Amino acid sequence: MEIYTGVPVSPGVAIGAVFLLATEERSVPERPIAAEEVAGEIERLGDALVSAREELTDLLSATGVENEISAIFSTHEMVLTDPKLSTEVGATIQDRLVSAEFAVAHFFDDLVRRFQSVEDPYFAQRASDMRDIERRVLRALMGDRREEIAKLSDPVVIAAHDLLPSQTASLDSRCTLAFISEVGGPTSHTAIIARSLGMPAVVGLGEIMAHLADGSLVIVDGNRGQVIVDPDPAQVQRYQRIMQGFERYRLELARVRDYPAETRDGHVIRLMGNIEVAADVASVMDAGGDGVGLFRTEFLYEEGRPPPTEQDHVDAYVSALRQLAGHPLTVRTFDFGADKITPDADAPAEPNPFLGSRSLRLCLERPGLFMPQLRAILRASGYGAVRCLFPMVSGLRDLRRAKEMLEKARVSLRTEGHYVSEEMPVGVMVEIPSAAIVADLLAVEVDFLSIGTNDLVQYSLAVDRVNERVAHLYQPAHPAMLRLVRQVVQVGLDSGVSVSLCGEMAGDVLYTILLVGMGLRELSVSARSIPAVKQVIRRITVEQSREAAAWCATATSHEEVLTRLRESLGELVPALA
Ligand code: PEP
Ligand code: MG
Repeated sequence: MEIYTGVPVSPGVAIGAVFLLATEERSVPERPIAAEEVAGEIERLGDALVSAREELTDLLSATGVENEISAIFSTHEMVLTDPKLSTEVGATIQDRLVSAEFAVAHFFDDLVRRFQSVEDPYFAQRASDMRDIERRVLRALMGDRREEIAKLSDPVVIAAHDLLPSQTASLDSRCTLAFISEVGGPTSHTAIIARSLGMPAVVGLGEIMAHLADGSLVIVDGNRGQVIVDPDPAQVQRYQRIMQGFERYRLELARVRDYPAETRDGHVIRLMGNIEVAADVASVMDAGGDGVGLFRTEFLYEEGRPPPTEQDHVDAYVSALRQLAGHPLTVRTFDFGADKITPDADAPAEPNPFLGSRSLRLCLERPGLFMPQLRAILRASGYGAVRCLFPMVSGLRDLRRAKEMLEKARVSLRTEGHYVSEEMPVGVMVEIPSAAIVADLLAVEVDFLSIGTNDLVQYSLAVDRVNERVAHLYQPAHPAMLRLVRQVVQVGLDSGVSVSLCGEMAGDVLYTILLVGMGLRELSVSARSIPAVKQVIRRITVEQSREAAAWCATATSHEEVLTRLRESLGELVPALA
């Protein structure tokens, strides 16, 4: 028996035989062609691109509403439809007189080299996307449409060095028990896909593949981040009991959606959902959410397409409002740049994109971009409970400038004869440490504050949120973070301004007792986290949570905080112990 420890990225436990997904060794020899063959090769290339795109369209419709997965494939589709791909590959065929296969491989080698030369895991991940697209085009060219993984017939644990998006999307989820991979972190494709399929996954396990054989028995513990290879019978029995407990837990979660997010002593928490497109509202409502606490509107903007018009914005917001049936819709204005989409693909690279001209800063510099959105938010507020949320506010100056723009939008709409509500609440994300420090000043001029721990952790601890090399330092439980959050919550209590928390921390059940204990009464989480968070809320009392929060406030390290929170969670939800 051998135990490997990695990063737990999707909860649950599985026991089963392992299926080793070989890393595809791709080697495309340089095949010279005659000048007369050029037209034929270019035609083959065109056909292959069409069929690769068709394959992607099929995959997209097979993935249905899973929007993280479809987002990955939509990006692949964009690369495949980019005229640069066919033009450059066609030019290589013509100029170097080589086969379409070689020209395609040459194009992607170059692209991957460029991505890899940037020392950033985000770009490393994009390199793996490029390899995936290349594989698809080459398969279409060579007439080999075999998907190794699609042949599975018995349920197995998929083990890989790093799973490619299409490998996971084409698999039959009935034949998959869990995923394990040697590399990756919480933002890797394996993690995203496992979570969206609801399967346990442990990534970042290091060189485990060399110690596995096809058919080896493994236990995957997605709660603790462990993989046990060749477990002894006692371990298997122990984990079988844990699995039964986890199954019961899943059934309980399915029932909890219809109940309020209310503590045992009667305190109601407004538990809302984070969305990226209007269609996501359906999953929030299905999961039993109380509205949308964060609409990440950057996704209205699609790279390579014209910017959304004012009417596109209005349509998206009104469509979300209709599905929300009276529940609030918190529209966050464009949060462009760094880890998110940028409106200027050709803008010169900045040395520190996370600290650069992005998000609200960029919007304030570009009224042409910002105004249509602000006008649309105001127009939509006539159709339902819209709240306007400004991201990346560092202090009063940013807030005032943003509110001035909003006022200009209001005046222009009124002049044009539109009805515009005066009541729309305006809030700011507290995600830059300076905003947390001056939260009392901000509270005087806003209707609500929304703590964005994803960025607040990054900027407070100086740890890149998408860099897997420093993922172990990215700690929402850091004592400094707890103090900042507590301070902002206190500002809310003192000023009467409502405070919510919409970072990933709110969706991790480990922190639920702590956040409620700190005084938060509004949380916004991804739709899939709503039932689990709600279940914990329904099992605690405010007094018990205050005790946990008071204890954590005295801790001197994140390890102490996490140990205490794990103990509490284990008592509240034994299946997650
Ligand atoms: C945050 O920063 O915590 C947040 C919720 O916003 P995003 O993850 O979109 O930056
Ligand atoms: Mg943020």
